Amino acid sequence: MSGPIDEYGRAAANRGITAIEVREGRTANIGSLGIVRVLPTKNRRTIGPWCFVDLMHADDVDRPPPLEIGPHPHIGLATVTWLFTGAVLHSDSLGTEQLIRPGQLNLMTAGHGIAHAEEGVASDETWESTGIMGVQMWLAQPEETRQAASIFQHVADLPEIEIGAARGRLLIGRIGETRSPASFAHPTIGLDLTLDGDSILPVDPAFEHGVVPIDRPMRVGDDIVDPGSLAIVPAGRDHLALGVRSLPARVMIIGGEPLGHDVKMWWNFVARTTDELTDAWRAWEVGDEERFGRVPSRLERIEAPIPPWISQPSNQ
Ligand code: MN
Repeated sequence: MSGPIDEYGRAAANRGITAIEVREGRTANIGSLGIVRVLPTKNRRTIGPWCFVDLMHADDVDRPPPLEIGPHPHIGLATVTWLFTGAVLHSDSLGTEQLIRPGQLNLMTAGHGIAHAEEGVASDETWESTGIMGVQMWLAQPEETRQAASIFQHVADLPEIEIGAARGRLLIGRIGETRSPASFAHPTIGLDLTLDGDSILPVDPAFEHGVVPIDRPMRVGDDIVDPGSLAIVPAGRDHLALGVRSLPARVMIIGGEPLGHDVKMWWNFVARTTDELTDAWRAWEVGDEERFGRVPSRLERIEAPIPPWISQPSNQ
């Protein structure tokens, strides 16, 4: 999915909150697809290693827009693709061609560099009433793996979990003895839950968490959080208290140990320094196939914008 081109240089006061904070997402378009971006948000770039959360939605639920995102590069992050409806064909420069359907996870870890394309595929499933097609999320890679080789994982068989009135799937990480087969090199959790009543979820106190309601408002602690908004729950708690009035209510829970440093994000890249972003931008500009490979896709390659810190050629 195409990234947050406007995030470079924004103040990254990631830490320091002690109470639950609620932030409204903002709407944007990626091609013809409408999205609500709930992370990054004002003064907050990461929750654990999660650095990017887009809700993909269709304004016209009877005629969802075609999802067509041509070949584009990534570095330093893992993309997490999770659908609620429809089907998407993923193709990447490792040679992967993988159809993803609801309930399955695509986890693409970019490391030093990968390129991929995503294309919606005709599906006869009925469109869910929310109009939300799925979520596209990124995990910032930790220092140990961020320059390493890229990896693609498709996990069709994720563990199902049930905790009180909450049931759903564990995308990544572990709960008690249950562990997701999706692997990521930093303590992380990702859950898709449906709540049939008020729920208390046990969580790791070393983790910070984000609560993203999908189809109904819910109470997180004492705060009401609407779909399209995010509740940020600081580390140090051993449970999340979620309250719901209308049932059932679907929610994504993300979290993890804080990365311990700031990340720099620009376009489709996550790095630590501006020079690293510039190197990746140049490599894509010149079509460096050693770094980004070649994507088997009929879609047109997406060109990178010029980074704002690169001086523009003068007309004179
Ligand atoms: Mn992408």
